[in-house]
Amino acid sequence: MSEQLHCVDAKAGDAPLGDVRELAIDELEQFVVAAGERAFRARQVMGWLWRRGADSFDAMSDLGADFRAHLKNHFKISPAPQAAVARSADGTRKLLVALGDGEAIESVIIPAGARVTLCLSSQAGCAMACEFCATALMGLHRNLTAAEIVGQLAAARRELAPGEQLTNYVFMGMGEPLANYPRLARALSIMTSSWGMGISPRRVTVSTVGLVPAMERLLAEFPSVNLAVSLHATTDELRDRIAPINKRYPLKRLIDACRGLPIKPRDRVTFEYVMLAGVNDSSADARRLVRLLGQLKAKVNLIIFNPFPGAPFAPSARDTVEGFQAILRQGNLTATIRESRGQDIAAACGQLYAERQSG
Ligand code: SAH
Repeated sequence: MSEQLHCVDAKAGDAPLGDVRELAIDELEQFVVAAGERAFRARQVMGWLWRRGADSFDAMSDLGADFRAHLKNHFKISPAPQAAVARSADGTRKLLVALGDGEAIESVIIPAGARVTLCLSSQAGCAMACEFCATALMGLHRNLTAAEIVGQLAAARRELAPGEQLTNYVFMGMGEPLANYPRLARALSIMTSSWGMGISPRRVTVSTVGLVPAMERLLAEFPSVNLAVSLHATTDELRDRIAPINKRYPLKRLIDACRGLPIKPRDRVTFEYVMLAGVNDSSADARRLVRLLGQLKAKVNLIIFNPFPGAPFAPSARDTVEGFQAILRQGNLTATIRESRGQDIAAACGQLYAERQSG
């Protein structure tokens, strides 16, 4: 990990304690060795934190008392966050997760048969200003830390029914994950490493509006994580308007970058496409999409626009979406229609909007 953590050098009393949940294994090993302990103690600590859910150093009963005291003098352990839950008639649960400083984020548990997906946030709010997304209305409040990103898993696990288990993890909640790359990467390491939660990276998807350099870095550092790119338009003119980051990374640059990504033979890049009535859902749009993605190993996920109060768009009609899908399929693209879940509790894609709780 390139980012330096100030907490490693913090001495008791002269600086606020850093959160041990922010550390990667190599950083904790350095600390452990500097304390005169054997390096494997770091794995023991991580095991307590990430597999057994310990929330105090005192609980780490196989560590010596002196070493536990030394850890306590240098680190705190952030508590698992509290969440208020809204339940949809379709089994979807939306968690309003309270962060330490009064900010709040939303995470969504989405059961579908044997699959239970957790939709994770990466930022409180978002700076990307996509015109069809409720989170954009908040603006960016701040980045989440790695511990806050991963804390959503702990909060979600508390809400599962007996026997229910999370099987998939998608960064499709609030925020642009690749605009918070260092913290996202730390969180992905914790989630997917053997020293952390041991989740298979193939079960993790990062969705981005198309921050090209960070996309390339993500797949270099986490080659097995799935990438989803939010495309939504087939011309720069329209994409500039509805997803303004396009002015920085226009379509050609984005698609060229996708073509160059080190995608494994059996994998594909997913492109998300929000269907906005009369805006991007014509058959000419579908044909342009086929031409744009033609040379790529691509899969298209059509998302019918989920409305929110004041939104300047309407959802495309079902038969328009099916006609659009048919054109993509004739063009040899894999195309699916994403079923909207949790609309009755404003938990569907693009409906997440978490305000600071007053009082
Ligand atoms: N910033 C990331 C991840 C968050 S949004 C990204 O842009 O990919 C996850 C997905 O929901 C994106 O594809 C996004 O475009 C889509 N989305 C946003 N608002 C929506 C809405 N109102 N209806 C349907 N999908 C929406």
